[in-house]
Amino acid sequence: MAAADIVIIGGGIVGCSVFFELERLGYDCILLEKNENLISEASSGNSGMLHSGFDAPVNSLELHCIKRCMERVFSTFDQLGVPYNENGSIMVAWSPDQVPKLEEIQASSLAKGVTNVYHMSAPELYRKEPYLSRQADGALWIPGETVLEPCVYGLLLAHHARKNGAKILTGCEVQGHEVDSYGRSTVETTCGPITARVVINCAGLYGDKVQQMAGVDTFSIKPRKGQYAVFGSSTGHLIKSSILPVPTEKTKGIIVFKTVHNNLIVGPTAEDVESRQRAAIDATITKRLVDIGRQTVPELTSFSPVGHYTGVRPATEYKDYQIKSYADRNWITVGGIRSTGVSASLGIAEYVATLMRNDLKAEPTRGSTRTVESSDWNLLPSGFLSVDGQLYGVSHPITLFGLKESGRNSRL
Ligand SMILES: Cc1cc2nc3c(=O)[nH]c(=O)nc-3n(C[C@H](O)[C@H](O)[C@H](O)COP(=O)(O)OP(=O)(O)OC[C@H]3O[C@@H](n4cnc5c(N)ncnc54)[C@H](O)[C@@H]3O)c2cc1C
Repeated sequence: MAAADIVIIGGGIVGCSVFFELERLGYDCILLEKNENLISEASSGNSGMLHSGFDAPVNSLELHCIKRCMERVFSTFDQLGVPYNENGSIMVAWSPDQVPKLEEIQASSLAKGVTNVYHMSAPELYRKEPYLSRQADGALWIPGETVLEPCVYGLLLAHHARKNGAKILTGCEVQGHEVDSYGRSTVETTCGPITARVVINCAGLYGDKVQQMAGVDTFSIKPRKGQYAVFGSSTGHLIKSSILPVPTEKTKGIIVFKTVHNNLIVGPTAEDVESRQRAAIDATITKRLVDIGRQTVPELTSFSPVGHYTGVRPATEYKDYQIKSYADRNWITVGGIRSTGVSASLGIAEYVATLMRNDLKAEPTRGSTRTVESSDWNLLPSGFLSVDGQLYGVSHPITLFGLKESGRNSRL
């Protein structure tokens, strides 16, 4: 029977971050992913934005993890060589009745300790964004918000742990979990049983089903679809920042943003759905997204989208993250990371490391913490990321659209 110290279930952005962090701290880890590719489910259908936390619920674990992540994510990007663009976001009130809401958002951000949210005057707005519709009634400037290469980030986190000796098994589905009378865990998988000291459930859209394998039933996944319209890189000059609407209780709303590949994207929607699988493109929504894009940036009328994609958020019945440890089962669940898994990635991983030490009394097997080092990587037109000669399949549409247009090996 195979053995590992720490088994991490799920190679989305959350699992890859936890894998990276625990290996860095000295734990001996194995990452199990049921699909052929890492970053292939919820984590491959997002906007690839780092949100600064200004709109995260007050006193939430989500806000805590985003703030902790923000403190070290940029140095980690630089150390690993992850492409990002600190372009900031501008939240625009498109009607006079939304203007007081901007003031409320600014005040609540300050109360949460997210201080970099500023009022922006109309001349400042149009100096920065000359192509924006002239219908704006007010704006907030949020410089901390950033776009990054979300697939390269996740894969480089995982690769860093792997190149230092940790193992990754893809095409390996976890199907059961048992704790024997000596307190040792065994994970049943499609690639055979694996014994472990601690098991960490980072199964995203299947987090509730996987935790039931450990006899825990504390939340249910309520999948929430998001759809996007993607414009070609020739539209990239039309905006400098990400253009956010004023959010509602239910959703952050449709954003117009530019990826690190220079594609201009409009989305995501927020629709409750039954299925956890990647959702189909809905033509009515496509039209609505294109209309919103053109209302926001009228010059987009001269361009047609080059494609569309969808993603599914692992939402639950709760607003906050569902991260809990179960010492009697050697188990940690990291679930319900609904819409900020990238932004909070390293904060979530740090929080899990704290649970390992404090609740599970699981100390690292290696004494020293590892320094983060860059890798030699290239995006290949064939849809792979080559890192230090190791190939990783790419599933994220942001990366695939970028590759399609550049048609060449790219480090951006
Ligand atoms: C439309 C949309 C927009 C978003 N925009 C942003 C954004 O701009 N910024 C941001 O920070 N966040 C954003 N998010 C949220 C972010 O994408 C999620 O928080 C994050 O992807 C959740 O990651 P995860 O690792 O928990 O889940 P997943 O990515 O789903 O990973 C879980 C993995 O576990 C694997 N797995 C499941 N069951 C098993 C099993 N039994 N055995 C082995 N493996 C298993 C799955 O195959 C999967 O790969 C967005 C999400 C969506 C959908």
